[in-house]
Amino acid sequence: MTDKTFYIETFGCQMNAHDSEKVVGTLVHSGYSQVETPEAAALVLYNTCSIRDKAEQKVFHRLDQFKRATGKGKVFAVIGCVAQQEGERIFERAPHVSLVAGSASYTKLPEMLVQLEAGNRRVIGLNLETAETFDTPFTRRDNPHRAYITIIEGCDKSCAYCVVPFTRGPERSRTSESVLREAAELAASRYTEIQLLGQNVNSYRDPSPAAWDFATLLDRVGRVPGIRRVRFTTSHPRDFGKSIVDAIDENPALCNHVHLPVQSGSIRVLDRMQRLYTLGDYMRRIEWMKKARRNISITTDIIVGFPGETEADFQDTLRLLDEVEYDSLFSFKYSPRPNTAAIAMDDKIPEEEKTRRITIVQEKQRAIQIRRNSDLIGKIEEVLVEGRNQALGQWIGRTSQNRTLNFTHRDAAAEPLTGKYLPVQVTRAGPNSLVGESMQCGVM
Ligand code: SF4
Repeated sequence: MTDKTFYIETFGCQMNAHDSEKVVGTLVHSGYSQVETPEAAALVLYNTCSIRDKAEQKVFHRLDQFKRATGKGKVFAVIGCVAQQEGERIFERAPHVSLVAGSASYTKLPEMLVQLEAGNRRVIGLNLETAETFDTPFTRRDNPHRAYITIIEGCDKSCAYCVVPFTRGPERSRTSESVLREAAELAASRYTEIQLLGQNVNSYRDPSPAAWDFATLLDRVGRVPGIRRVRFTTSHPRDFGKSIVDAIDENPALCNHVHLPVQSGSIRVLDRMQRLYTLGDYMRRIEWMKKARRNISITTDIIVGFPGETEADFQDTLRLLDEVEYDSLFSFKYSPRPNTAAIAMDDKIPEEEKTRRITIVQEKQRAIQIRRNSDLIGKIEEVLVEGRNQALGQWIGRTSQNRTLNFTHRDAAAEPLTGKYLPVQVTRAGPNSLVGESMQCGVM
């Protein structure tokens, strides 16, 4: 390839977003330059998500649409979960694609690029048998203040509805030393917030002789000079130990927010989902957080309409929402995925019933969030300023609990506040965000 311009489009989760940052860095280090539109690029990459059927269809639709519009002479690459799941079938469905690579093969990306440049029409990286993680010193980060660090890749669980174990390979953790080094480098580059990532971030097991568990690593990252906030996502309830709550209590740099996906409030459905914990186990973890010294915000994921979910099971989920009073949740309609155990299960729930259930969940949760957010009116929260909404004349901040807090600042002509930490008094609350006023003219 003589023209070394590339465009990348990313679908899916934060792991994918961060993988794209690393892919971009790897490409730039190999002499490529990133452009803003697929039209301007010689190489077009789609980093894909297959967690739901809709996300997967979207990728093929984009590929098709784009090929018809401007495909001539361009090289197309499909990477990420759909690439791993569909493999060589992608070449049949979209013959204009030249590279297909799953995330477990990204360490081979430089070699694959060389093959592409040599004019190879079909380059494939689909090996899941790997003990490696995709570490690169060339990451191109999108956000100037918050940086992602992947500490564990893959998944060894086998939830009955989930494709991840088939698309991202087995769990493999980075050494604690390499994670701490990256955190220190980020602090030296003026990043103040770090988000530790993993499909099951708290299943982290340090492969080095230090053998730290997740809580120890979390605490140590929070003690790196210059780092003011550390977040982590996503936690698996089975591996969520009390030591994580203790670490949050002890170390103010650790954000007081935990995303702990429950998926269902029904003992029976959790069992069918093969989630590896009982409702009792889950509630014990909620209790640890509710009893913590710091006010820990708890959020979750819910799936409605899993095969065999009865009305009584669904009512159990609603009861759980009332009991825990989550600060936010992501709700999904069950979507059958290839290779998963649930695909063979009887008693599928009709689409309209799933829609009814998800609507009820969302309405209930909206009322809970209005109530919980209203409790914060009058309180002072520290925010990291993430940007500005010119139309509303407000700054956009994020609290340690991961709430959006839009605020006005007395000194309207002040220097840009983005990236600063400020105390803000909450004056109003909606279901999804807060509004407030900055408490000081200067910045921290
Ligand atoms: S723990 Fe379950 S839901 Fe999470 S990635 Fe692994 S298989 Fe999927």
